[in-house]
Amino acid sequence: MSKLVIVGTVAFDAIETPFGKTDKILGGAATFIGLAAAHFDIDIAAVSVVGSDFPQEYLDLLSRKNIDISGIEIVKNGKTFFWSGKYHNDMNSRDTLVTELNTLANFNPVVPKHYRDANIVVLGNLHPIVQLSVLDQMLNKPKLVVLDTMNFWMDSALEDLHQVMKRVDVITINDEEARQLTGEYSLVVAARKIHAMGPKYVVIKKGEHGALLFHNEHVFYAPALPLEEVFDPTGAGDTFAGGFAGYLSKTGDISFENMKNAVIYGSTLASFCVEKFGTLRMEHLKNEEIHKRLLQFKQLTQFEIKLG
Ligand code: AMP
Repeated sequence: MSKLVIVGTVAFDAIETPFGKTDKILGGAATFIGLAAAHFDIDIAAVSVVGSDFPQEYLDLLSRKNIDISGIEIVKNGKTFFWSGKYHNDMNSRDTLVTELNTLANFNPVVPKHYRDANIVVLGNLHPIVQLSVLDQMLNKPKLVVLDTMNFWMDSALEDLHQVMKRVDVITINDEEARQLTGEYSLVVAARKIHAMGPKYVVIKKGEHGALLFHNEHVFYAPALPLEEVFDPTGAGDTFAGGFAGYLSKTGDISFENMKNAVIYGSTLASFCVEKFGTLRMEHLKNEEIHKRLLQFKQLTQFEIKLG
């Protein structure tokens, strides 16, 4: 079976949206990536760190989804990474209220031995030095390395981020962050500049406005599915990355043509993630529901036009 390694935060999140507020609930980039990738019948390992305050039931939940958690270190007397955010009324933008690194500040990731030959690695949102350390532990250069990052790391570790970017094949980044990274307003120009920094494939996520995939002069666009209910966008970007990488891992085909399908899978999974707070929707998502929504996606975007 195809092996996928995910590194990223496993966290407590406290979220505020126009529809309500949560106390500390399960969150983290690796959590959302893992829950999405778990739908593809592949071997998945999550590499992360938590404190002893992290509930066993959350770890059990990941295990139940067949995610190997032997690479999640539990630091005795340590505190788990905590993030809190508040969404604006349009739900497309948010303010980070709190980022407490806690155990993440001294995290030395260890990729489980039997996963060091994985063919796909997802470097979820984390300090770029930690992301590099994971790449250094792989026995061979993986077939595909996908990087996700955010403004927090651009502000605090830009030089290191540039080092990681040189070693990845795909970057997934949101529109605002692509503009911050390049200083360009046009996403086409921004994508070109990001290409020049390393990644051959650039995915720019535009929240409810879908996602763009750039590769040299080729561009593919997938809208987001118009949803009746958007409750909490937290984790949508990570869920997208998990669906994208999971699909590529399952199919073993990393051509641009197949990446288009991966974008559709990523968008479809992300459309579920936003329907409930935190990980709730993803915890109970069934494959039949995904299949149904993929069909809706197809209908939404397919048309016959006769060109004279
Ligand atoms: P997303 O909405 O896809 O950008 O991801 C949100 C998740 O990222 C939340 O569950 C947070 O726990 C996690 N997160 C927030 N800030 C950071 C950060 N600076 N580094 C790593 N993970 C973070």
